[in-house]
Amino acid sequence: MKKNDWIMVAAVIVIASAFIGFHFFGKNSGNGWVEVQVDGEVYGSYPLHREQTIEINDTNLLTVVNGAAEMKRASCPDQVCVHHKEISRNGESIICLPNKVVISIVDGEEPELDAVAN
Ligand SMILES: [Zn+2]
Repeated sequence: MKKNDWIMVAAVIVIASAFIGFHFFGKNSGNGWVEVQVDGEVYGSYPLHREQTIEINDTNLLTVVNGAAEMKRASCPDQVCVHHKEISRNGESIICLPNKVVISIVDGEEPELDAVAN
């Protein structure tokens, strides 16, 4: 059936372009989130594509610039987190042991904001 073949081709093109479009859009919008945890509890989640400065309990100061998160300032004595290079890829993290602060990159959709609900 020739007509059905064309419908098949059209369907494949639509699905393929939708997939490519989604992929492109996903990359372009700066997919990913910065998740901040303090003492094992989620402190907050922030989109990587938005430039911002995040104060964490007066002990740490995190900045998000150009899709990367960096610890700008910390009250800890070792300053390991401040000297850590900026993070931008899924799975990367900055840990401030003395302040029990963990910054990690989370991929994809907006994470659940359980901490805010509580
Ligand atoms: Zn630190």
